Amino acid sequence: MNADRDDLISVRGKTLEVESLIRKIAMDYSPAAFASSFGVEDMLLTDIILGTNAPIEIFSIDTGRLPRETHDLIAKAQTRYGVRIKVYFPRCELIEAYVLENGINAFYDTVELRETCCRIRKVEPLRRALIGKKAWITGLRAEQSRTRGLLRIEDFDEDNGLKKFNPLLNWTEKEVWAYIREKRVPYNALHDRFYPSIGCAPCTRSVTVGEDARSGRWWWEDSTNRECGLHVKGI
Ligand code: SF4
Repeated sequence: MNADRDDLISVRGKTLEVESLIRKIAMDYSPAAFASSFGVEDMLLTDIILGTNAPIEIFSIDTGRLPRETHDLIAKAQTRYGVRIKVYFPRCELIEAYVLENGINAFYDTVELRETCCRIRKVEPLRRALIGKKAWITGLRAEQSRTRGLLRIEDFDEDNGLKKFNPLLNWTEKEVWAYIREKRVPYNALHDRFYPSIGCAPCTRSVTVGEDARSGRWWWEDSTNRECGLHVKGI
């Protein structure tokens, strides 16, 4: 996706706004944390947060089913920025019980089993990661789906009981890529293979022209809900 001059001008303006919001979050809601899944938006936010030197923890959740390319990017990001990113894993006894009872790939069988898998591999580690925090930050964009279009830049996460900020909500995909290319920020190799949204390997496929960004996630399910319960109440 090529950036034109207007994109670069709007990106610079929006970058200043995000930097200012990040500083405000660090000042007013410490301790705050940024949840990165290492998608392209999250790499952009990582670059901005670390550039501001704001004391905001960056963490990620390794579900145990991530693609190799995501692990490669975590390693690359740690080298590029010289920081250790805190990685939370699911509780192994929950995974062992789920697999024993339902099977290793049971998430394909029913919506309920898929939701349970997301709950124990993603939502439960997220809850632990947010304990003691006053705010958390995401890289969600309104354009990504109808449900995300209903979010706000500054919000309150009722489930976890803390402030939630979505600083990139109004960024376009073109603007995100303009920033990434201009600053040479590392990104997941799967994005170059038509994976606009990347989650767990067995639940993510590439998309074709005209499909929306989230259509490669849980593609075998009803297309109106492509969420795992981390951000939008899908489950
Ligand atoms: S995305 Fe798939 S493998 Fe990952 S937690 Fe959800 S159901 Fe399980």
